[in-house]
Amino acid sequence: MSEATIYEKSVSGRVGARLPVCDVPQTPLPQELLRRELDLPEVSELQVVRHFTRLSRRNFSIDTGFYPLGSCTMKYNPRLNEDVARLPGFAALHPRSDEESSQGALELMHRLQGWLAAISGFARVTLMPAAGAQGELAGILMIRRYHERRGDSQRRRILVPDSAHGTNPATVTMAGYESVELPSDHNGNVDLLALRAACDETVAGMMITVPSTLGLFDVNIQEIVDAVHGCGGLMYMDGANMNALMGIVKPGELGFDVMHYNLHKTFSTPHGGGGPGCGAVAVNERLAPFLPGPNVELVAQAGADMPARYGLRMPPQSIGRLKAFHGNFGMHVRACAYILFHGARGIRDISRHAVLNANYLRASLQRSFRIPYPRICAHEFVIEGRFEGIEEVHALDISKRLMDYGFHPPTNYFPLIVPEALLIEPTETEDKATLDEFIAAMRHIAQEAREDPGLLLSAPRTLDISRLDEVRAARQLMLCCVPIPDWPAQG
Ligand SMILES: *Cc1c(COP(=O)(O)O)cnc(C)c1O
Repeated sequence: MSEATIYEKSVSGRVGARLPVCDVPQTPLPQELLRRELDLPEVSELQVVRHFTRLSRRNFSIDTGFYPLGSCTMKYNPRLNEDVARLPGFAALHPRSDEESSQGALELMHRLQGWLAAISGFARVTLMPAAGAQGELAGILMIRRYHERRGDSQRRRILVPDSAHGTNPATVTMAGYESVELPSDHNGNVDLLALRAACDETVAGMMITVPSTLGLFDVNIQEIVDAVHGCGGLMYMDGANMNALMGIVKPGELGFDVMHYNLHKTFSTPHGGGGPGCGAVAVNERLAPFLPGPNVELVAQAGADMPARYGLRMPPQSIGRLKAFHGNFGMHVRACAYILFHGARGIRDISRHAVLNANYLRASLQRSFRIPYPRICAHEFVIEGRFEGIEEVHALDISKRLMDYGFHPPTNYFPLIVPEALLIEPTETEDKATLDEFIAAMRHIAQEAREDPGLLLSAPRTLDISRLDEVRAARQLMLCCVPIPDWPAQG
C-alpha cells in the first residue's frame, strides 16, 4: 500500500478548520478576482497533523542527530533565537512601517552591523544579501564598480583557488568577469608561484576562502594579499568559514577589502532549506561608498532626554538594491540574540571549540582513513573515502552506510581536488560523547569495507527509502505519493 497524499485523503464535505466570525464590515470583492473553483483538500485536523508529522519524521535534521556536513556549519539553532524573533514587536512589524515607528528594529540592525564590523575588522556592513552567494555577488560588483570609477577598465579577471566553493567562480562569471583557477600546492595552500605568475594589470581581484574549504588556514595568506594588492587587484574573502576565526583573526586586519558572512552558518540562524538566510557583507573604507542598501545609519546621537535616532540610507555610489525591504529581518534578530547571549569571550570560544572538535575527529580518524593534508585543521577537514585494494567502495557508500548508524553524511565529493572527498565539520555545539559515537561508527565502517563491502554498497538498509537516483529525483521532482510498505500486504 502506498501512502496517500493529503489530496488523496480528501473527502467532500470534511472540515478541518472553522473561520472565526467576521468582526469587520464585509465588502464585496471584485468578481474578476474570485476563482470559481479552488482545489483544496477537505480533511480533518487530525488527518493533517498525522500526515505532516509522519512526513517530518522522515527528515533528518540538526534537532534529530549529528550533522557533520562540511562547509555548511550545521550548528544547533538555539531556541532562545526563536523566542526573540517571535516577539510581536519584531515579528508583526510591517516592512512598510515608517522609520519613526520602527526605531527599535532599526537600532537592532544598526547594532548587528556594528558587531559584524567589529568581529571582521571592517569599516561597514550591509545586511541586505539573502545568502552567501548573493553576498559574493554584491562584493564582486563593488570591486567592479571601484575599478570602473577609477577608469581602470583593463581589469577583467578574478583569481579563484581550485579548492573554492562552486559559488565563487559562478559569482565571478555573473559579475561579468573571467574566473581564473589557481592550483593548490601539496600542503593545501595556494600555489604561490602560480599566483605570482597570474598577477598582472588585468587582475581585478581574488576570491579566497579563509580557512579554505579543505579546512586549512593558508600559511601564506599575507603574501597572497600583498601579491594581489601589488598588481592593483582587490581581495575578497569568502567568510563562510568564519566559525573558525571569530575572536581570533580579523580579515580586515589581514588586508582584505571585502568579505561576506553567512549568518545561517556562523551565527546559528536556520539554513531553512535554502533560505531565507543572510549573507551580510563587510567592507573597508575604500569600498564603503558602493555598498548595496539601504543600510541603517545613526541619524542623531542620543541627547539628554532624546533617544538616538536611526534611519535607512542608500550609500552614495551604491551598486543598488539586492533584496526587497530590509533583507531577511528575522535572521538579523536571531543573529543579534546569539551574539548577545555569547558576548565577546563566548564568540571567541565558539571558534576555539569548533576547531578543537574538528581536530579531535581528525586525529581520531587518521588511522582508519587517508587524510590528504595531515596537519592541524581549522573547523573542518577532508578525508578520502576510499580504501587501498577495495576498488568498489566509494565515498558515497561510506556516507550511505553512516545513515544506518544514525548520522547525517559529511559533504561528498567536495572540494573537487581531493579524490573521493568527505568534508567533515562537527561544529562546536557537539559534545565529546557524540563525537566519540561518530568516530566509532566511522571506524566500524572502515572495518566493514574490508570484511564485507556489500554492507556499504547496499546501504542504507534501515531507512524507509534506500538509494535514490539523485539526478533524476532532482530533474523530475514528483511531489506526490511515495510507496511505503506500512500495512501488511493483502491476500
Ligand atoms: C555555504 C558557502 C557559500 C554559499 O553560501 P550560501 O548561503 O549557501 O549561498 C559560499 N562559500 C562557501 C565556502 C560556503 O561554504
